[in-house]
Amino acid sequence: MNRFLKVKCPDCENEQVVFERASTYVKCLVCGRTLLEPTGGKARLKAEVLQAFV
Ligand SMILES: [Zn+2]
Repeated sequence: MNRFLKVKCPDCENEQVVFERASTYVKCLVCGRTLLEPTGGKARLKAEVLQAFV
C-alpha cells in the first residue's frame, strides 16, 4: 500500500507531506536537508514521521 507521510525535519522542524515510495530524493523545503532517500521500493526515511495518510 502506498501512503503519504507527514514528516518533521530533524534540523529545522519544518513539517511536510511526502510520498512513501518516492523515486527521487525528497528534501526539506526550508533548509534542504534530505528527508527521504529512494531505494527502488519504500523510501528510506531520514525524518520523524508524525502521521500517515492512506
Ligand atoms: Zn529542514
